[in-house]
This record gives sequence, C-alpha cells and structure tokens, in this order.
Amino acid sequence: MALNDDDLTRYARQLILSGVTEAHQEKLAETSVLVVGAGGLGAPLLLYLAAAGVGHITIMDGDQVELTNLNRQVCFATDDLGQPKASTAAAMARRINPSVVITARDEWLDDERADQIISSGLIVADATDRAETRLRINRFCHQKKATMVFGGASRMEGQLSSFRSGVDQDSPCFTCIFPDISATSQLPRCSEVGILGPITGVIGSLMAMEVIRQSLIPDQPFGSDLCGKLMLYEERDHFMQTITVKKRPDCPVCGG
Ligand SMILES: [Zn+2]
Repeated sequence: MALNDDDLTRYARQLILSGVTEAHQEKLAETSVLVVGAGGLGAPLLLYLAAAGVGHITIMDGDQVELTNLNRQVCFATDDLGQPKASTAAAMARRINPSVVITARDEWLDDERADQIISSGLIVADATDRAETRLRINRFCHQKKATMVFGGASRMEGQLSSFRSGVDQDSPCFTCIFPDISATSQLPRCSEVGILGPITGVIGSLMAMEVIRQSLIPDQPFGSDLCGKLMLYEERDHFMQTITVKKRPDCPVCGG
C-alpha cells in the first residue's frame, strides 16, 4: 500500500530517521496487532501504535472505566467513568489517526475468542495483569505461530520481552522464562501493590516500540528486538538491564 501525501506528512518525523524507509512505513500499515488490556499499559501502547501508523489494531478489554484507573490510564477522562474501556480507548486512538483501522472488543480474551482471533503473523501485545490471560496468549501464540510482546508493570518496576516460539525454534516462550506462573498464580495486581502512572507509561511505550520492531523483522531499523532477552526496569534506583533468556527443552508449552 503506497503512502499518499498526507501519510508522508503525518509520518515525516519518523521517516527521516536514519535507516527508515517508506517501505518500513508501508509494512507498518499492513501490520495487524491485538492489544489485550486497555489499562495502564494498553493506553500508551494503543495510542503510540495508532500514531505511528500501525494499520490494523484490535483493542480488547472487558472492564469499564473506574475512578481508580485515572492516575495512569491516559486514554480515559473523568467523564468516561462507567464506559467500556476498549470502545472508549478505540475512540481516542481513532481521533489521533483516522487512517488506521481500530476494532474495539469490550470483552475478555477466553479460549474461544483467542482461537478465533489469534492467527499466524499476528502480533499480540499482552497488556494484562492476569496470569490466566497471559498464559492463554502464550499458548495460542505458540500454537498459531503468532508473536507475543509481553509487558508487565507494578509498584515502581516493570519487565518486557517478546516471544516467537511458534516461528523460531530457538525462541523461548513466556513459560520458558516464568515456569512457576500457573493460571491460578496471583501476579502483583496494581489494586493490591500500587502503581504510579509514569511506570505504566514507560513500559507501555516500550511495548509499542517492541511491536514496531517485531512488525519490521527481518529489518531492524530501530535496533535489535527483545526475542531471547528480558528487559528489567526499576525506577526507584534508575535501573534498566537486559538479560539473555533461553528456551527450556522441557517447556510444557514449546518444548519437545
Ligand atoms: Zn516455552
């Protein structure tokens, strides 16, 4: 899909970056992303993907906007209280960039919907804080040869990685790295341990960056992606580190 004059103007500041071509922008326009979770991570993730020209974005969340969300979930305003999150976030993203196709699904990702939506080539951004959903995304991305971009944030810290275990036999999956997390695991929920808005802003923005990287593979105009790596972030000590992570041959999801 060739870029028109409006596209060349809208994306001018990213097109002049060293190593970035119009072909990269056209590839972004053809990319499909499922963002699971329209909360603290999903908000900057969705808005930056739409702004960057990622062509097809589905945003999924079964919650409604609550007052406690508004310290970090920047897709929503005070008069959105009680509204469905996915539809409300989608409306905001469409205002930023009407040329991208944004689909809102005001529902949770269960097995049936994951089976229906997740397919080969899709990038699924996991912006939830539910272990069960996270493991479901990992399982279906592996089975269906989709890419999973994972982000997590709580308190003043976060993590980030990507998994392509369904298409790259050397790639670990989420369970390779976090083998002890089960569907009944209680991840640190923001409602229990707290969260500061800029922390989800940092991790959600880095997730958007990583989705853009994954969509442009095999080219890497923005540096190497996070597949096979885990980025750790701790704001209290201004600490950021990326460690190498490996596939587990005995992984119940991607091993064997
Ligand atoms: Zn695995």
